[in-house]
Amino acid sequence: MAADCRKRKVGKLAERLLDWVYPRRCAFCDGILGREEIYLCRSCQKRMPYPVGEPRCKSCGKPLADKETEYCWDCAAHEQSYDRGLGLFLYEGVMKDSLMRVKFHGRKEYGEFLGKLMVRYGGDLIRQVQPEVIIPVPIHKRKRSVRGYNQAELLADEISSGFSIPLRTDLVLRKKFTKAQKELSREDRKKNLKQAFYVDEKVRKYRKVLLVDDIYTTGSTINIIAAKLKQQGVKEVFFLTLCIGKGM
Ligand SMILES: [Zn+2]
Ligand SMILES: [Zn+2]
Repeated sequence: MAADCRKRKVGKLAERLLDWVYPRRCAFCDGILGREEIYLCRSCQKRMPYPVGEPRCKSCGKPLADKETEYCWDCAAHEQSYDRGLGLFLYEGVMKDSLMRVKFHGRKEYGEFLGKLMVRYGGDLIRQVQPEVIIPVPIHKRKRSVRGYNQAELLADEISSGFSIPLRTDLVLRKKFTKAQKELSREDRKKNLKQAFYVDEKVRKYRKVLLVDDIYTTGSTINIIAAKLKQQGVKEVFFLTLCIGKGM
């Protein structure tokens, strides 16, 4: 009993020491959190944005200007390789700030909070489509070693444990671009992007895959991976991203 109590005390002390060396920070404003605050400081708790609501594109989930339209301009013009997907929040304000800090300023710890938001607000989609596996959109391994992590994987990890769906990071890999994207025409860009992903044939054991990423903008990355997954025999591909750009 006494030993247990001491262990607890040491545990608490270690926790406080850790808090002092690496203070926990608010995932929206990066301010240091008080002892009672979890993930967000008190003033940022009031700034929590609402997820994107209806009307939204039936295919990619982008917000639409009017209820009469079913698909965004992009989805109406091009057939998508994925079946359906959703981006939860608009890429602006506190969400944008938070993601930028995860990606470029080493704030890996926000990943837990942002992933939990995806569990909470993406739950309906996941329960409807019942994916057999979750695959985060990969980044190149050199980028991963500089950053220390892949932000999409941090989010996917939370979703995987939230819904007890296996996470696989070995089936879709990012290779190096053969040429810099900005030097290429639109068509060549697509070709270049296509060559940038490797999809392992072992993925064919899954019928339904959920791709997870931090943001959906033009959808070209998700589309190319979805097409490659289907080439390998996957039947349905869905996506869930934390943020999404606005539709037209
Ligand atoms: Zn804050
Ligand atoms: Zn769309």
